[in-house]
Amino acid sequence: MHNEFGNIIEQLTEKEKSNLSDNNISSNEGLISLLLKRVAPENVEELASLLEQSIIPSICSETDDEISRLFLKINADVNLLFDKEIQAKIEDFIFKRVQRDKKVVIQKTSDISKFVTLMSQYLNDAISSNGSGSKNVLNIKEKIQSINLTKDGLIELADLQNELIGAASLIEEEMSAVSSKLKSGKSKVEELEEKVKSLEEELNRTKNESMTDHLTGLLTRRAYSNEIRKIENSYQRNNTQYAVVFFDLDHFKNINDTYGHDGGDVILKTFAKVLEKCTRENDIVGRYGGEEFVAIVHFNLNRELLQYLKRVKTIVTANDFKYKDKKVKVTFSAGVAIRSNHVSYASAIQKADMLLYESKKNGRNQIRIEDGQTIS
Ligand code: GH3
Ligand code: MG
Ligand code: MG
Repeated sequence: MHNEFGNIIEQLTEKEKSNLSDNNISSNEGLISLLLKRVAPENVEELASLLEQSIIPSICSETDDEISRLFLKINADVNLLFDKEIQAKIEDFIFKRVQRDKKVVIQKTSDISKFVTLMSQYLNDAISSNGSGSKNVLNIKEKIQSINLTKDGLIELADLQNELIGAASLIEEEMSAVSSKLKSGKSKVEELEEKVKSLEEELNRTKNESMTDHLTGLLTRRAYSNEIRKIENSYQRNNTQYAVVFFDLDHFKNINDTYGHDGGDVILKTFAKVLEKCTRENDIVGRYGGEEFVAIVHFNLNRELLQYLKRVKTIVTANDFKYKDKKVKVTFSAGVAIRSNHVSYASAIQKADMLLYESKKNGRNQIRIEDGQTIS
């Protein structure tokens, strides 16, 4: 009996042994309550399995043979869980597990940040790209392709990498389409601008041409009409006195017949120059028709008007007109109406025309003024 009790005691754990002496247990019956406190082996097995689960790293995908080997051993003998050496090993695995998971998180984050940096660079380049920039876009796409993924991030990030490459290719295609559209749009705009510019120039030229007589450079009849409107306004407001002078070259048909049409043109040009030279800043002179000219001459005193008329007459009669080294005798007739003697400009020009007709009738080469004076 005592021997049996001694055998049992030897098999107890240290803790059970001290419990035995603390409670003065000395019989087999006394041992019953102590042994009932022992944990059932199946419960320990369950605990061992839970422990194994908690030691295996959850983020790091690498499996650990050392852990499996250790728990195979523990499963065969769950009491090993209470072995000091085994417990130290488990403690070491717990510490390593935290370290390994932490490392994987850091690696994955850095892979993603590499992608994000490259992608934003890609988008920036794509947006600011105007054709020449697409080379940079291509470089970044290549960089995404060649990112060396860390071992732990490989599976999930490889998918992301592929998606990004796809997105980059799509952006690239769209950018090149937009860029070529912009280019063709730009050239179309430039083309239109050039067209508008040339039309503008042509319009200006046509406008000037219609305002300036192509042969003599004087005002055309239309331009003259515009000018006369302004002069009339000024006359109505400020009573700026003026005379209407009608000129007509004498026997111009003969000049044409003698020197040809070209000769006639040269004479017309020369006569126009004389009129232009005598015309002051506020006055105007225009070609009214073939060899007919009209001038508006402002004056305060009749003397000033006479001076003008005499000047024109003197220049024409005192100088020889020339055509191809030939001297051409040119005379003209004129009729002069004073605006203030008429109710309107229309009436004044009619009077000038009438006086011109009288000059012709009275032997030509003379200027008839409506006050009755004649310069010949
Ligand atoms: P008159 O003294 O009565 O005015 O006689 P005229 O011969 O000058 O007058 P008429 O009206 O009979 O003839 C005018 C001529 O002027 C007829 C036309 O051929 C000519 N003529 C009109 N315009 C031009 C032109 O631009 N160049 C040339 N060379 N001749 C022109
Ligand atoms: Mg005539
Ligand atoms: Mg004539």
